[in-house]
Amino acid sequence: MSKKLFIKTYGCQMNVYDSERMTDVLAPIGYGVTEDPDDADLVILNTCHIREKAAEKVYSELGRIRPLKEQKQSNGGRMLVAVAGCVAQAEGAEIMRRAPVVDMVFGPQTYHRLPELVARAVRDGGGVLDTDFPVEDKFDHLPEPTSQTGVTAFLTIQEGCDKFCSFCVVPYTRGAEFSRDVASIEKEARALVAAGVREITLLGQNVNAYRGQGPGDSSWSLAQLLTHLAKIDGLDRLRYTTSHPRDMTDELIAVHRDVPQVMPYLHLPVQSGSDRILDAMNRGHSADEYRRLVDKIRMARPDIALSSDFIVGFPGETDRDFEETLRLIRDVTYSQAFSFKYSERPGTPGTALPQQIEEHVKAERLTELQKLLNEQQIAFNQACVGAKLPVLFEGKGRKPGQSIGRSPYLQPVHVAAKNDLFGEIRDTQVVAALSNSLSGTLCTSEVTS
Ligand code: SF4
Repeated sequence: MSKKLFIKTYGCQMNVYDSERMTDVLAPIGYGVTEDPDDADLVILNTCHIREKAAEKVYSELGRIRPLKEQKQSNGGRMLVAVAGCVAQAEGAEIMRRAPVVDMVFGPQTYHRLPELVARAVRDGGGVLDTDFPVEDKFDHLPEPTSQTGVTAFLTIQEGCDKFCSFCVVPYTRGAEFSRDVASIEKEARALVAAGVREITLLGQNVNAYRGQGPGDSSWSLAQLLTHLAKIDGLDRLRYTTSHPRDMTDELIAVHRDVPQVMPYLHLPVQSGSDRILDAMNRGHSADEYRRLVDKIRMARPDIALSSDFIVGFPGETDRDFEETLRLIRDVTYSQAFSFKYSERPGTPGTALPQQIEEHVKAERLTELQKLLNEQQIAFNQACVGAKLPVLFEGKGRKPGQSIGRSPYLQPVHVAAKNDLFGEIRDTQVVAALSNSLSGTLCTSEVTS
C-alpha cells in the first residue's frame, strides 16, 4: 500500500458502509487508509445531504483541505481531493465551481468505478464528475469486503426510496428503490463472518421494502432474508435499519418472535404524531395506525426496544400538532430516538409549503421533545438494572481494564474485565444505568457463546 487514503464520513450508516467499500475498491490499486489528512495522497469526503448544515459542513471542510493540498504540491507531491455521497449526487459540478480544490465528484451509485476515476483525475489534472445512476449493479463490481476489523458490520441490502416524503432528499440523491439479490448478500455475509463478524446490521433507506431476487427468480422479502441469513454458522446477531411503518408486514413482525438471532430492537421512524402533519409529510399512514402497529409488534416481542425519528417545526405545525407528537411518544415510549428541527432541502416539496415555522419555535419544541425522549431512555435503561443480558463485546472501554459491548437492545454496556473480551458474547448482570449506557458485571468466567 504505497499510497495513503483519508476518508471522512458524514451522515448515516449507509455512508459508513459505502466508505468501507470504497476502501476495499482502492486497496488493489495501492491505497491504504490513513487517519491523517495532512499526509494523504487521496482525500475523500463522503457526504450527507439530509440537513442544510450537513451540506455546508462540506465546503468548510474543503476550505481546511486546500492548504494541505497546496503544501503537498509545494513539497513535490500530489493530493487528489474528492467529494462523494449525497451532496455530490445533489450538487455535482456546482461543487467544483464553488471549490476548485476538488478533483473528483462522484455519487453513491458510482464509487465502484473509483480506479478509473482516479486514473482520469491523474491524467486530466482533475475535473472528473460521475453522478450517473448506472445500469450495471454497483454491488456486482465490488471486491470481497477486506477492510472489516470489528465483530459487528453493516451490509447494504437495499438502496433508494419510492416514498417521497415531502421533507426528504433521499429519493433524489439515492434514486428509486433497488434490492440486491439474495445470493450476493449471502456471499458478503459469509465473507464477513469468515472475517470474525458475529453481528450484521442490514441497511436500506427503506430496508423493510426489500424485495430481492432469490433462487429460481423467486422474490424474497426481508423476513425471508433474515430467516435465511440466521442459518449462517457464527452469525449470532442480526439487526436491520431503517424501516417505514407502511412496510412493516405481519411476516416481518413474526420474525421478531420466531428467529432468536434477530435482535429485539427496532428503529421505526414516525416523524410526527399529528395526522395533519403526517399527511403534509406524505408519510401515508395515521398516528393511530402507527400505534396499532406498535401494539402488534409488542404482542409478538413484548420486550422489544423501539427507536424512532422525529421532526419538529414542519411547515404548518401548530401547538396542537406538536402536542399530538408528545402524546404519541408518551403512548409508545422509546428506548432511544433521534429528533431534528425541520430543515428545508432543495428540490423537496416541503420547501414550497406555506407557514414555515420560525427558528425559535422549532428550538423550543425540540428542547421539550428531547426532554421527554431522554426521560424515556433513562427509564428504559433503569428498568434493565438487575437483569442478566447477553452482551457482545466489541473492544476496550475508555477506562483501563474496561471492556465495552452492546446488549440485544443496542445499549452500550461496559464491564471491568482483566482479559480482552473482544468478540465474546457474555452474560452480564446490569448493576447501574446511565443516561445512554449500562454498567455491568460478568456473570461467570465461562464464555456464554
Ligand atoms: S421513507 Fe425515509 S428515505 Fe424514503 S423519502 Fe421518506 S424519509 Fe426519505
